[in-house]
Amino acid sequence: MDLARLSINQMTTNQWTLRESIEGYAREGVRAIGVWRDKLAECGPNQARKILQDHGMTVSGHFRGGFFPAEDAKGFQANLDENRRAIDEAAAIDAECLVLVVGGLPKGSRDIDEARKMVRDGIAEVLPYARSAGVPLAIEPLHPMYAADRSCVNTLAQANDLCDELGEGVGIALDVYHTWWDPCLEREIKRAGKDRILAFHVSDWVLPVTDLLLDRGMIGDGAIDVRRIREWVGETGYAGFIEVEIFSGENWWKKDPREVVRICKERFEQYV
Ligand code: ZN
Repeated sequence: MDLARLSINQMTTNQWTLRESIEGYAREGVRAIGVWRDKLAECGPNQARKILQDHGMTVSGHFRGGFFPAEDAKGFQANLDENRRAIDEAAAIDAECLVLVVGGLPKGSRDIDEARKMVRDGIAEVLPYARSAGVPLAIEPLHPMYAADRSCVNTLAQANDLCDELGEGVGIALDVYHTWWDPCLEREIKRAGKDRILAFHVSDWVLPVTDLLLDRGMIGDGAIDVRRIREWVGETGYAGFIEVEIFSGENWWKKDPREVVRICKERFEQYV
């Protein structure tokens, strides 16, 4: 894949601050970045915007909104407020979308249907605010192993259903790590189509997975046929950034980030 399409999610180089990531990616000719809220908070949206502009860097996604389900009405409202703040930040740094990790079960709950309703209602509540800020909301289905604590939206079909229901201003962040196993993936990518796919994340599934969150592999090292999924996405007409997103506490986060960026570029050309 052409390196002009490469974005790197800054979690891939978690050792770096936001400024260091922008500078480090720009040095290697990378034109886009996925930004995290905690990293953004270190320098603030105004300064971040300037650093991004100075380096000609596009924000392919802001991470993250979501986590809607709550134990009670007060908690639900607080979650909505938090999402509005995330929307403000995304607007301030001209992010192409705010990625939603929608949340799992409220503490003590076993009612996943109710959690899913809260997700739908939560997105519907913040959607007018997002539309007026010009920030598209990208629902990211997460692998079912996260259903209890991070996301009760686990398949692309579920995300497509939510988009059908909620209408304009909502789309999908498609991540190969979370969706590669799904027998309906090709069909649901077609169903989503170009207009609904707001972000496309790549990494790999490397056995044994030793940590639910922090053991993602480098593209080309594992079980996922990234090229095949990228072709399905390409067939929709999607021509946006393709973002390498690797959470890797024991491996990639321990390497020199400059080396990680170089390897991302090589693997992107070779396997995406
Ligand atoms: Zn992702």
